[in-house]
Amino acid sequence: MLTLCLDIGGTKVAAGLADARGALVHTATCPTPPGGSAEQVWAAVAAMIAGALREAGGAVRAVGIACSGPIDLNSGTVNPINIPGWDGFPLADRVAAAVPGVPVRLGGDGVCMALGEHWRGAGRGAGFLLGMVVSTGVGGGLVLNGAPYAGRTGNAGHVGHVVVEQDGERCSCGGRGCVETVAAGPWLVRWARANGWSAPPDADAHALADAAASGDAVALRAFHRGARALAAMIASVGAACDLDLVVIGGGVAQSGGLLFDPLRAALADYARLDFLTALRVVPAELGGQAGLVGAARLAGV
Ligand SMILES: [Zn+2]
Repeated sequence: MLTLCLDIGGTKVAAGLADARGALVHTATCPTPPGGSAEQVWAAVAAMIAGALREAGGAVRAVGIACSGPIDLNSGTVNPINIPGWDGFPLADRVAAAVPGVPVRLGGDGVCMALGEHWRGAGRGAGFLLGMVVSTGVGGGLVLNGAPYAGRTGNAGHVGHVVVEQDGERCSCGGRGCVETVAAGPWLVRWARANGWSAPPDADAHALADAAASGDAVALRAFHRGARALAAMIASVGAACDLDLVVIGGGVAQSGGLLFDPLRAALADYARLDFLTALRVVPAELGGQAGLVGAARLAGV
């Protein structure tokens, strides 16, 4: 029997059906209703669940949910920064009511991404893994000693909010100087514009990557600055958690060597302790499906 997996974020809701080896035999996505109320967002999720159950012939063995954070595993509620309508929303209970009689497991989208890459992607065989997504924000999750590490409330691995600039910009989390405010796509673009990059108003991080690839000096500096901030965070988290591998996915990471080359160079400068010299940083392999695969793993496929 198949496992139903969900990946719920600020821009889209994805549903999938995974077999026992973690292969997705069905996937579907819909946009997250922008600015939607709690029930409007839930209606989108419920429709995706209903569609997946029809595909499965009505029965699944378990449900795994990846949801953007923060979440609260103790109450099964979620309070995602990027879904304002869900403020303490009882997601685990709602899903359990929609799919009665089977186990339901909730996890953060970062830990599910890390778990998916660990199971079937670039993190196979790693013992102590940080999985990260660098796109419009910076997210992450930990797999420690081969198992997902959720922490006290389910929010361990929120590495986008590791502070790398003590007097830095105000972050979406309310804090200041988080690595997200330096390395996330919109922040790369904002810095580049403030430092003389001239581009159309709708130019995004992809356009910035194109400019950097063509040799634009400001665009290149923006990527170097973002890469150094990520390296500082990775060195810190690597030291705290004694990691052996970091897997990076997301739109900004798709710029390849533009990000990875300066990141690895800066990491070699920051991470000098003996136990960190073997720490490797590699691109993710599963793309947007890592969260679904990890949610299925979390559900105990
Ligand atoms: Zn923050």
